[in-house]
Amino acid sequence: MIRSAIFPHRYIQGAGAINELGTHLKPLGKTALAVIDPGIAAMMKPILENAAKGQIDLVCMEFSGESTEAAMKAVAEEAKKHNCQIIIGVGGGKAVDTAKGAASFYPAKLMIIPTICASDAPCSKNAVVYNEDHTINRDIHGLFNPDIVLVDTAIIAKAPVRFLSAGIADALATWFEAESCMATRHKNFTGYTGARTAYAIARLCFDTLLENAPQAVEHCDLGIVTPQLEDTVEACTLMSTVGFESGGLGAAHGFHQGLAELPETHKFLHGEKVAMGILASLFLTQKPIELIESIYAFHHATRLPLCLADLNIRDASTEHLMIAVERMNAPVECTHWEPIKYEPADHLAALLAADSFGRKFKEGME
Ligand SMILES: [Zn+2]
Repeated sequence: MIRSAIFPHRYIQGAGAINELGTHLKPLGKTALAVIDPGIAAMMKPILENAAKGQIDLVCMEFSGESTEAAMKAVAEEAKKHNCQIIIGVGGGKAVDTAKGAASFYPAKLMIIPTICASDAPCSKNAVVYNEDHTINRDIHGLFNPDIVLVDTAIIAKAPVRFLSAGIADALATWFEAESCMATRHKNFTGYTGARTAYAIARLCFDTLLENAPQAVEHCDLGIVTPQLEDTVEACTLMSTVGFESGGLGAAHGFHQGLAELPETHKFLHGEKVAMGILASLFLTQKPIELIESIYAFHHATRLPLCLADLNIRDASTEHLMIAVERMNAPVECTHWEPIKYEPADHLAALLAADSFGRKFKEGME
């Protein structure tokens, strides 16, 4: 049996890490193209230009805001025009994915600078291609992970805390799902079974979050960088990616796929839907009640959804929830990566059990 694990080539994190930009870019080439999220371009452009000064030529461009194939090709064209050896994605998931996609059309070194910590996308090799109407077109499975991921925690700490909470949920799912894949040695995103390293990092991700994430959320409120915030950001960005990409996914993300099918959840972040998926997966996989209670308390402390109404799902009828259950049971979904073959009725029951527990949990807090 062949095992495998993949990683970003270099990972740099800390308050003020952005000032090291030029030092890390210089060995990779002479000219870099930075693709910047339009919402933060005015803030980030001078910071990037200042950090690159005297080390490398930096060309900055804003993209349309949606990671369509056209946007990716436009970035690739711009990189070609300026003879760039490096493409840098600066911003949230859409900017990151646009840069990754561009690097798949135009061979260049890839650097990712996430300015929020809302998911485990920055270190991953994959990118989502969207249509102009904001629906998903397809995934691009890159051959390699980014060459450099640079996370400035001073920038992350100043972003709205909701993003960090969502990133925490996406990372919290990692161990539950990797543990399931480890039980059957299920293939990971490299097509092989996970290396032991991946499962160990997935577990470290979980332990790091339980210890630090509730405090990190408080510190993000204050806009301050603390060891608790640093450890949480590392768990969400680096550990979670290695854990899911090389360990594997499972029911929590399966439930996400289903919940995302319901229109009332569309305004919620990926991680917020994964959060509900984690809760449902706890009942599905019959975790000990002490663990279930501790995860609900963790969700509460990190401001994550506790019941379906928290995702604006007001109709919990079988008919309505089966739309989600049928979607998550599509043959390609990671729903089926669990060691036990569950039926759609099991998924529906788990959602209802998690919802009921969450509502009672909230009543108990009043
Ligand atoms: Zn995810």
